[in-house]
Amino acid sequence: MSYIGRFAPSPSGPLHFGSLVAALGSYFQAKSQQGQWLVRIEDLDPPREMPGAASLILETLEAYQLHWDGEVVYQSQRHDLYQHQIEYWLQSGQAYYCQCTRKQIKAMGGFYQGTCRDLTLNQPDN
Ligand SMILES: [Zn+2]
Repeated sequence: MSYIGRFAPSPSGPLHFGSLVAALGSYFQAKSQQGQWLVRIEDLDPPREMPGAASLILETLEAYQLHWDGEVVYQSQRHDLYQHQIEYWLQSGQAYYCQCTRKQIKAMGGFYQGTCRDLTLNQPDN
């Protein structure tokens, strides 16, 4: 498996010097291992975010020739990514719904024994 380096700035303002140094460090670490370098925007705290900061940060990275691999991930959109993955697993039979409580699993010795695998439970109503 190849090395994956990550840089995850918060878009609270333009990239400051310390963050740039951190970005450089993780970039060169990843590249020295022939790995990938991914960028994830930590945009989970809207009141603290500065409009346009995310694109400003990305422009700064590009200006320093720090080219990320793949798509930039916006943390705020990750819920959708997870949901898509979960749906894929459910549809391909690699995952199933479970109605066990933490307490029940603990009572089984802390190891989930696939109790609900063959029950074909539907998605619970929220
Ligand atoms: Zn279960």
